[in-house]
Amino acid sequence: MEERKPAARRKPIVVKKRVCRFCNDKNVVIDYKSSELLTSFISERGKILPRRLTGTCARHQRALTVAIKRARILALLPFTTVKEKLDL
Ligand SMILES: [Zn+2]
Repeated sequence: MEERKPAARRKPIVVKKRVCRFCNDKNVVIDYKSSELLTSFISERGKILPRRLTGTCARHQRALTVAIKRARILALLPFTTVKEKLDL
């Protein structure tokens, strides 16, 4: 059997810590106004990252989703990002 390395793809979003950031640090509050915090939970295209990538617990993911959606309506976060040369 011939061993082949898979071709280098688009770099995946790697999150090292698999602990819920909000459970870990009680001082971090999920708030729709703290867009800086929320941006770390959305992808390049503005999509909400799944729990399996961020390690957020179900409870906090739910709160996060609501916060991100609120922030989008207030134009603090994008719904989508338009990048013409981004091949999908
Ligand atoms: Zn949590």
